[in-house]
Amino acid sequence: MLNELKDKITKAARVAGREGRPVVLLAVTKGQSADTVKALVEDGHRHFGENRVQEAAAKYGPLREAYTDLRLHLIGPLQTNKVRDALALFDVIETVDRPELVDALCKAEPRERQQFYVQVNTGEEPQKAGVSPAGLAELLAYCERAGLPISGLMCIPPAGQPPAPHFAFLVELGKRHGLSTFSMGMSDDFEVAVIQGSTEVRLGRALFGPAGLPE
Ligand SMILES: *Cc1c(COP(=O)(O)O)cnc(C)c1O
Repeated sequence: MLNELKDKITKAARVAGREGRPVVLLAVTKGQSADTVKALVEDGHRHFGENRVQEAAAKYGPLREAYTDLRLHLIGPLQTNKVRDALALFDVIETVDRPELVDALCKAEPRERQQFYVQVNTGEEPQKAGVSPAGLAELLAYCERAGLPISGLMCIPPAGQPPAPHFAFLVELGKRHGLSTFSMGMSDDFEVAVIQGSTEVRLGRALFGPAGLPE
């Protein structure tokens, strides 16, 4: 399944005339067992996403020691009281979305290679995490002043709307701020996302079947 998905990503990138930078496939393993994760790692896969710090710690803690090149991404909301645990485990935090979180992350002193993306609530949905598009410039300026390096943007388009305009919007916002890493695209829309400029797709159900139901 992994190879089939990689082929689809490559084809979508080709359609869009983007053949330079490879698109990262994050295997989203929320709800999956430690054995499932281990099998993928032994098979050579290295990029993973999890929504929750605790769940990820149980599954990835032991594996990380053996596989130092694993790249684990936090793709769910982060509470300030979990920041230390998150930084101990994750290589990329994709859900920076408010000044208090920026402060907590800086205070906890991230490691050299750790990366941070800002999550943008492109659909301005009240129940969804992420900074509003109008608040992005201010948050990025806040990160800069605080010394938290932001290297990309992430979004989850509203369910039931065509995703392409949201992906295009995220890319436009990123370009305005000199950012070129875009985490966008899930099982139902990753090809659309790649065509729109995604550099990282986050796949759960497409990889594992409907057992890994989204939250
Ligand atoms: C669960 C989840 C995914 C994966 O969703 P699928 O539709 O199963 O591919 C991607 N991104 C986030 C933020 C998620 O919570």
